[in-house]
Amino acid sequence: MSQDKVLQVTLLGATGSIGSSTLDVISRHPDRYQIYAITANNSVEEMNALCERWQPRYAVMNDACSASELSDNLQSSNILTTVLSGEAGLLRVVEDTEVDCVVAAIVGAAGLVPTLAAATAGKRVLLANKEALVMSGKLFMDTATENNAILMPVDSEHNAIFQCMPDSLTEHHSSVKIANQQARSGIERILLTASGGPFRTWSADRLHDVTPEQAVNHPNWDMGKKISVDSATLMNKGLELIEAYWLFDMDIANIDVVIHPQSVIHSMVTYNDGSVVAQLGNPDMRTPIAHALAWPERIASGVEPLNIFDVAKLDFEKPDLERFPCLRLCYEAIKMGGSATTVLNAANEVAVAAFLDKKIGFNDIAVLIEQTLNKANITKDVSSLEGILKADAEARTITNKCISAIH
Ligand code: NAD
Ligand code: MG
Repeated sequence: MSQDKVLQVTLLGATGSIGSSTLDVISRHPDRYQIYAITANNSVEEMNALCERWQPRYAVMNDACSASELSDNLQSSNILTTVLSGEAGLLRVVEDTEVDCVVAAIVGAAGLVPTLAAATAGKRVLLANKEALVMSGKLFMDTATENNAILMPVDSEHNAIFQCMPDSLTEHHSSVKIANQQARSGIERILLTASGGPFRTWSADRLHDVTPEQAVNHPNWDMGKKISVDSATLMNKGLELIEAYWLFDMDIANIDVVIHPQSVIHSMVTYNDGSVVAQLGNPDMRTPIAHALAWPERIASGVEPLNIFDVAKLDFEKPDLERFPCLRLCYEAIKMGGSATTVLNAANEVAVAAFLDKKIGFNDIAVLIEQTLNKANITKDVSSLEGILKADAEARTITNKCISAIH
């Protein structure tokens, strides 16, 4: 199947790490993709430069003030991009009928509403914003299935798992429809790889004194600040465990987290005949982005193929849940069910922001999440967006109170 029209792409979170990798891939294929809309939080200057370069139909800023500043700048340089703001603006550029593909690359809970709207509108959704799925799990997957959205994982591990699945599953044009068909395909386990982060070998005592500067300095991947801290606490792997659980409808007992410091194998799938299928590549997000954009075709991403002779060796270890309790809390939250993963995600976002602001220590992040999970009212009913947003807001209030108690 070859693509016969230029696809219109809305890029949520255009100024971020995933945003700029996506633009890099798209710049290589002007015959296949056109940028319809870009969005960002409040970085007017960066958005101005992106509008000049890409001339999108729309640009959306989070707040009205940044939007009017951007609009004035664009008018004075005769750029015809229409500037919108807030949730209404995001919904407009996701739902427009001209839009074929939505890249969900806003960080954190702020991405939930537009990402869910993209699934509701039946778009091709490139999911980088794992927090949206962690918060809304079943609602998100049901919405994508009901509306025939094509849900493509961008997270490198989940994209690798998708690539390791048999064609007979992925030909359904959506990872959504992989669910429930695995047994027939002989799939037994998912091996979710993790680099282990910058503190993989550090003692618990030494972790106590970790600074934000150290935590955002990841050994293998160049990423936004929040996901870099999540990688250092192993919360990122916990969020990815929850992400894999929902995306591939896999029992949590059949997903193993494997610490693999070289970040060369991006994940694996094991089969009942003894086969272990892996996806390998240089650690560069342009590979999974290009795969998710073009699938079932392949397009150039700008990433050099892995030189297998440069890979001296591949190491594998079990994760240490004592030193990295965030991963343990993710297992526990999945078992609790209902709104527990929504609460966990909210508590983590608040705690990571406080850590980056130097209000709490590195090890306090897990303590605060555990306290919030214990204090929050974990509801069973997470079938509505309103219910999920309420659980998220309540959890944030609890975590903030717990932070005040630390001081
Ligand atoms: P980033 O911090 O570099 O960029 C975040 C983007 O979201 C920016 O464009 C920012 O303007 C926008 N944004 C932030 N807050 C917002 C708000 N309140 N409203 C609207 N827009 C807002 O983050 P990133 O590293 O690009 O990560 C983006 C998402 O992709 C995260 O969910 C992350 O977990 C996921 N992801 C990232 C990587 C990676 O390599 N960076 C890998 C896998 C998954
Ligand atoms: Mg990942």
